[in-house]
Amino acid sequence: MVAVAPGSAAERAGLAVGDVVASINGSVPRDIIEWRFAADDAELVLDVQRGGLEFTVEVAKRAGEPLGAEVSSAVFDRVRTCDNHCEFCFIYQLPKGLRTSLYLKDDDYRLSFLYGNFTTLTRFTEADLERVVTERLSPLNVSIHATDPDVRSRMLRNPRGGMSLRWLRALLDHGIAVRGQVVLCPGVNDGVVFERTMAGILDQYPELESVAVVPLGLSRFNTESSMRLHTVDEARAMVASIRDWQDIFLRVLGKRMVFAADEYYLMADLPFPEADAYEGFQMHEDGIGMARTFEAEFFGTAAQPTGVQSGFFAWVDGAPAAGYRAPRNPAGDTGLRGAHESATTVTGLQLGVRRDAPVGILTGVYGARVIEPLVQSLGRADVRLLPVPNEFFGGNTSVTGLMVGADIAAVLAQQPEGHRYLLPDVCLSEGRFLDGLTVQSLPRPVEVVPTDGIALRRALGAPVMEPVLERHL
Ligand code: SF4
Repeated sequence: MVAVAPGSAAERAGLAVGDVVASINGSVPRDIIEWRFAADDAELVLDVQRGGLEFTVEVAKRAGEPLGAEVSSAVFDRVRTCDNHCEFCFIYQLPKGLRTSLYLKDDDYRLSFLYGNFTTLTRFTEADLERVVTERLSPLNVSIHATDPDVRSRMLRNPRGGMSLRWLRALLDHGIAVRGQVVLCPGVNDGVVFERTMAGILDQYPELESVAVVPLGLSRFNTESSMRLHTVDEARAMVASIRDWQDIFLRVLGKRMVFAADEYYLMADLPFPEADAYEGFQMHEDGIGMARTFEAEFFGTAAQPTGVQSGFFAWVDGAPAAGYRAPRNPAGDTGLRGAHESATTVTGLQLGVRRDAPVGILTGVYGARVIEPLVQSLGRADVRLLPVPNEFFGGNTSVTGLMVGADIAAVLAQQPEGHRYLLPDVCLSEGRFLDGLTVQSLPRPVEVVPTDGIALRRALGAPVMEPVLERHL
């Protein structure tokens, strides 16, 4: 156990941080889902190991009362790893020498349910289906890529790729909410293949909640010669095709169904769709509509930050007590609460930097294009953007979540001392960047800020605007 809440049933029963729970009411939970179901009972008998001793702890509590103990990971048996070898897999494009957890290729429906990870269903079984349906593990996120069985098998480099979408059909038949994703690789599943995939979704999987279309991510460590970046014309063609398909889905199903990632609009240099065209931002974590939600948060038309921005760190560094997502920066705020409640991790004053000092906002190259007009609207000459080119990964890795410590350090080293530097927390996991550097190792002190528009506005000292929705109530 990694945390025991003060005054909780766990503490009353004598459980302590560091205890290993071997079983609960005689059964061994396989994951946090089974643990939570089991811990719901009013009377619990735990087999506990502590410092080489084994003993039994009885817990008496009201049915449904939380146990008040947090465990160290979400999956207690082995995470189910993926048996695919996708050409576009970003994990194959990581440089050597990063921490081990980053190289784990999971394809585990439990992580899909818990963290929003995508599963291809190639290792899904009848028993898994039974569990998902019985325990209502919904929604799940499924990578589709192509509905043509041959294309899907080729893309996943797995002969089971073609047939495994039968599980998608089964999930939908049992009323499980499923969100789909298409990773678009130019020359592989765009063009005619994409048109067929959209037609296939309309025909075979119309119950899907929505489908995110995202461009493949390419780093300079890519070794697959057939993988390449989209051209501007290809990005524009994708945006146009998705608009056309949205019209079709809207007419037939009453919803737009398919959405292009923000990156497409940035690549194509086209304006983002209006906020209401995102139909509730279901795929926000997948980079769909983030620019519009950030804008709404910044200008006070969103009462709360939209969802969690997990970046690359959905779960890779384990599942600590803070809601089973690695805290961005354990030195301070986790960024998991609403930004209007949260402070920056390290304030300028704490760092010995004047609150009224000029401000530099560190962000990815794409993030800078989104934030620039927002900051300009404040009319502040003392606030500047500091885009951080991603030299570490190279390729098209321009998103803020993939910023690494070395690149940020290179930018900061060129900046004057005594200024305030704001760093979005989406590029951190437990205070570390993807390259293993820490916030403390940067050449200038930074303020770690939750990655949303409300938090940015607050960090800039600009009045946080009353949410328009609340004003109308
Ligand atoms: S399914 Fe995902 S993790 Fe597995 S190889 Fe493909 S992209 Fe990588």
